[in-house]
Amino acid sequence: MNGPQKIVVIGGGAAGMASAASARRVNKDAEITVIEASKYASYGSCGIPYYLGNLVDDVSRLVTYTPEQFKKERNVEVLTDSYVTRIKVSLKTVEYVSEKGEEKELEFDSLILATGARPLVPKIEGLNLKGIHTVRFLEGAMKLKEDLASSKKVTIIGAGYIGLELAENLKKMNKEVTILELLPRPMPNVDSEIASIIEQELRRNGVKLELNKRVIGFEGKERVEKVVTENSKYETDLAVVAVGVKPNVSLAKQAGIELGKTGAIKTNSRMETNIRGIFAAGDNCESHHIVLNEPTYVPLAQTANKMGYVAGANAAGGNEEFPGIVGSAITKVFDLEIGRTGIGEEEAKKYGIETKSVFIKSRSRAGYYPEGKEIWIKLILKKSSNIVIGGQVVGYEGVWGRIVALTLAITNKLTPKQILFTDLPYAPPFNPVWDPLIVAARVALR
Ligand code: NAD
Repeated sequence: MNGPQKIVVIGGGAAGMASAASARRVNKDAEITVIEASKYASYGSCGIPYYLGNLVDDVSRLVTYTPEQFKKERNVEVLTDSYVTRIKVSLKTVEYVSEKGEEKELEFDSLILATGARPLVPKIEGLNLKGIHTVRFLEGAMKLKEDLASSKKVTIIGAGYIGLELAENLKKMNKEVTILELLPRPMPNVDSEIASIIEQELRRNGVKLELNKRVIGFEGKERVEKVVTENSKYETDLAVVAVGVKPNVSLAKQAGIELGKTGAIKTNSRMETNIRGIFAAGDNCESHHIVLNEPTYVPLAQTANKMGYVAGANAAGGNEEFPGIVGSAITKVFDLEIGRTGIGEEEAKKYGIETKSVFIKSRSRAGYYPEGKEIWIKLILKKSSNIVIGGQVVGYEGVWGRIVALTLAITNKLTPKQILFTDLPYAPPFNPVWDPLIVAARVALR
C-alpha cells in the first residue's frame, strides 16, 4: 500500500493505542511503533477508583491489551518504560531513552502525539511529605493502595469526578473520608440544583464534605499529618490531590507545535497539528465544542479513543474527521448516578448565552411497578432559539439512557417539542409512560 510507512505514536494510553489500532486498519504494511513512558500501555485509568475500592482485584485487569497482544494481533511494536525526549521535526525523527536506558532514535513519516494529561498539583507547602498522592497512572494507583492499607483518615482535595469516585470507594474500605472543595458545592460542571443532590448523597453516606476550602499546604514530620486550608487544619493519615488535570504538552512545545487558547494542542478536524504529518489525540488536545462552536478543553476517555481513531487513520493515509464534542460525562457516587451533557446554565453565563431552564423530579419506573427510584432532570435552553443546549440528570437509576438521548438531542439541535415527539421506548420496569425526559420537555414547552 502507498502512504506513510513509518508511523510513530508517542503515548500508550487510550488515544495512543486507539491511534495505533486505527492506523493498522488503514495500512496493513506500515511499521507502527508506540513509545510509552510507563510500564503499562492500553490501561484504563478510569478504573483506578474501583481498583482502590477492591471492586477490581488486580491492577492488571485495568490493562485491555498487553504489548505482546498488540504485537501478535495487530503487528504493532509497543515499547514500554521508554521515554521520548525530543522530536526533530526537520529530520522526522524522535529521540527516546529505551527500557535499558539507551539513547535511541526512530524515524517517522507520520507522528501521533498522544501524551495525555497530568494531574494538576497546586504549588503549595509540604508537597514533598510522604502520604500525598494523585490518581492518574497505574504505578501510582498501586502505591496508593499499599499506603491506604495502613491509613484510616483520608483527605481528598477536590470534589470533582475523581474526588467523588474515590470517596465512595474509600468509604467502602471503611476509611474516614473528608473532602475539601474550593467551591461552595461539589462537581463544578453541574448546576447548583444538581450539585445539592450530590452534596446530600455524600453527607448521607458519612463523607465529611467541607466546602469553600482552599488547600494551602500540608504539615507533618516525614509523612503528612495535617492538610492546611486558609482557615483550618485537618488531621489526616493520607491525602489525595484531585483538583483537575493539565495537558502534557512539553514535547509539543519543544517541536514548535501550536497550542490553542486553552493551552492544549490545537488540531484541525483531521487531528493534524500545524505541522504536516504530525497528528495529536487525547487529553493533550483541545476539542471543538459543538454547542459553543469554539475550542474547549474537556479531557475524557471516550473523546480520547475517538480522536485516536481519527488521528491514526489519517496518519496512515486515510481520511477521517472528528466532528467535536458536547461534553457528555457520567459517573456515580454511592447510589446516585450523575450525568451531564452540553453546557450548564452557569457555564452559559460565562459565554454570554441567555438561557432558560426547567428542573423536574420524577420516577424511574411506572408508579405501580416495584422499586422505582427518584430521578431529577434539568434542561437548559437557548432563549433566542429555544434549542436545548444542556441537560443534567441525577437519580438512583436510569440516568445513562436519558443522558444518551439528551446527547443526541443536543448534538442535533433539537427543541423541546422535537424531544417530546421523539418515539422513546416504554415499558413499566424501565419508565413511566410519560418518561421523565418527556415530562421535562413538556415543562420546557410551557
Ligand atoms: P475535576 O475537574 O473533575 O474536579 C476538580 C475539583 O477540584 C473541582 O471541584 C475544583 O473546584 C476543585 N479544586 C480545584 N482546586 C482546588 C483547591 N486548591 N482546593 C480544593 N479544591 C480544589 O478533576 P478531577 O476530579 O481531578 O478529574 C481529573 C480529570 O479526569 C477530569 O478531566 C475529569 O473530567 C476526568 N475524569 C472523568 C471521569 C468520568 O467522566 N467519569 C472520572 C474520573 C476522572
